[in-house]
Amino acid sequence: MKELVIDLEAEKAEILKRYRALLRASKSTLQKGDKRMIRKAFEIAVESHKDMRRKSGEPYIYHPIAVAQIAAEEIGLGTTSIVCALLHDVVEDTDVTLDDIEREFGKKVAKIIDGLTKISGVFDTNSSLQAENFRKMLLTLADDVRVILIKLADRLHNMRTMEFMPRDKQLKLSSETVYLYAPLAHRLGLYAIKSELEDLSMKYMERETYQFIKKKLNEKKAEREKFIADFIGPVKKVLEEQGLHADIFGRPKSIHSIWNKMKKKAIPFEEVYDLFAIRVILDSPPEQEKSDSWKAYSIVTDLYRPNPDRLRDWISSPKANGYESLHTTVMGPRGQWVEVQIRTKRMNEIAEKGFAAHWKYKESSSDSGLDQWINKVRELLRNPDSNALDFLDDFKMNLFSDEIFIFTPKGALIQLPSNATALDFAFEIHSDVGATCIGAKVNHKLVPLSYNLQNGDQVEIITSSKQTPKEDWLNFVVTAKAKAKIKSSLKEEKRRIAEDGKEILERKLKSLKITYNTDNIQKLTFYFKLPTSQDLFYNVAKGIIDLKDLKEYQASERVIENKPQDKIEQEQVQSLLRNIKAKDSDILLIGEDMQKIDYKLASCCNPIPGDDVFGFITVNEGIKIHRTNCPNAAKLMANYGYRIVKARWTTQHELAFLTGLRIKGIDDVGLINKLTTVISNDFKVNMRSITVDSDNGIFEGTIMVYVNDTEHLDNLIKKLKQVKGITSVTRFDSASASFEKAS
Ligand code: MN
Repeated sequence: MKELVIDLEAEKAEILKRYRALLRASKSTLQKGDKRMIRKAFEIAVESHKDMRRKSGEPYIYHPIAVAQIAAEEIGLGTTSIVCALLHDVVEDTDVTLDDIEREFGKKVAKIIDGLTKISGVFDTNSSLQAENFRKMLLTLADDVRVILIKLADRLHNMRTMEFMPRDKQLKLSSETVYLYAPLAHRLGLYAIKSELEDLSMKYMERETYQFIKKKLNEKKAEREKFIADFIGPVKKVLEEQGLHADIFGRPKSIHSIWNKMKKKAIPFEEVYDLFAIRVILDSPPEQEKSDSWKAYSIVTDLYRPNPDRLRDWISSPKANGYESLHTTVMGPRGQWVEVQIRTKRMNEIAEKGFAAHWKYKESSSDSGLDQWINKVRELLRNPDSNALDFLDDFKMNLFSDEIFIFTPKGALIQLPSNATALDFAFEIHSDVGATCIGAKVNHKLVPLSYNLQNGDQVEIITSSKQTPKEDWLNFVVTAKAKAKIKSSLKEEKRRIAEDGKEILERKLKSLKITYNTDNIQKLTFYFKLPTSQDLFYNVAKGIIDLKDLKEYQASERVIENKPQDKIEQEQVQSLLRNIKAKDSDILLIGEDMQKIDYKLASCCNPIPGDDVFGFITVNEGIKIHRTNCPNAAKLMANYGYRIVKARWTTQHELAFLTGLRIKGIDDVGLINKLTTVISNDFKVNMRSITVDSDNGIFEGTIMVYVNDTEHLDNLIKKLKQVKGITSVTRFDSASASFEKAS
């Protein structure tokens, strides 16, 4: 490592030199007192950062000075922003407080610094938090767009001076930059900054490709410059003959945009033809801007054949970010397509520096596209329902897309992203128009809501008061506004349906004698695996959960019923018990008492005579007979001892009980026939069903049979096991409590 030698005197001189350069860059906007303000900010910044150094070893103050320089020179911002840029890191990194700033520079500066301090941590944690922070950042933007512009200048300088950062930090900053800052710069009309941010990110994220394209561009530099000179020569001559003053030059496209083209079209570097664009910058008085631009267009296209599909008129309809220009693609002297951009000096400044430059020309910016855009952002942010992540996605979509211009029936112009549909247009007119839209007429022809609008379409929306927003609308609308409105409306609709569902559920639970209370609603929500009780109500209203489902829930929960209900039960249980006890013995004899006492065999364990059993008194279904080894037995006995009745079978052969047998063996011709012969002929047992599965010579089957008692069953099993090829026969129950009857 080289030792860092610091020459403090030389540094002091360098700081002052940079400060003077900053003053020169801001000269055009300086008014009385401005210089003093900037000086004060500079001194505070120097003093508070005096012990800090950047990763490169340089004094930290170089950074705020550079950010202020970018703000002044490359974005065209004024004194307030320069002051804020100089101070942008002091509150966060030094002892200077926001109150100090307010005392020295006033409320406005303090507010912007506060905004800059708050958004500095935007990307520090997990993604959803990022989205939430991003939303906050945009809220700040809605307050004062200068916060974002200074933030962009800050980011640009950090990206320019990133080589001393550790690799992981470089990658992190780069990905944030392409993900958010570059699109934001684009949206704000800062094309030069946007391109540079993209190139710098690519330099770190795709080092090899970046260096490869850079090298290729350098190799062809001389050839390209010759071509540009040949192309420009005749144009310049004719323009001058016609009295038009213009700067014409060939501007290389950014490495990032060349790489994008290579990827998008899957072509090698050599086949990317538009490595540069020719720019014609006219020096025209305001009243002649448009006619001069078209005059220049006519001259260029007289010299070179234009591609009719490639004319873009951003002068008659500027982009929402203020961009104005005429674009055309013409066939150059060597049979190569060349993009030509024609604009005036004013338009060029707006194109390079974005809206900050626009303000310079237009005192009142109340009707500007940026204000419209910021209003739109505000409107979206005000919607409390919008999910931060969704919002970010929709918002980014809107950041990237180009605009189309659509006319209302009365001829008003509406700007929409290029892939917008008729429904987006409806929502853009008014959210109520969107919500009740049933169709549209595009250029007097009826089209569906999902119709993709084309630039220049005239659209009339057809509405119906019966219409409400539909879920599938979300599949084709693209504007963040339409999406947010549809989502909040669907949510409202769901809430309304859930309200009805709540009443329906209350009635259904009442009929099942389940108390309607928070506890039970929670249990039901959990049982049906739903995220909220609102979803439960909604599913009930929609019939997705019906009485049958609720009964199943009840069966599964039978054991844990409610206190008030228990009282009623107790009475029923007592009366049943009295009934049984009146018969000399407190043992329930199954078979004999059949007619007098209402009992059923439990379906969970399918008891048959001979099994050890007990009776369980239920509320609505009388006494249920379970096997003592039933999987539910322990739970029932432990919780409801008072409802247990001793029970015993009386021998009774004429009654048949259904039970199941699982049979395994080696598949053999006629095996099933042999089995059924044993069951039906030898044993005279009725079969209810037989299912057989045979796989690779292994036979597996289940047979449901009616038997009289366990002895009867045991004998059947013994006989079946004697059949040739059978390896095992086991009894099973519908519940999992099967047990091996024989080994
Ligand atoms: Mn900074």
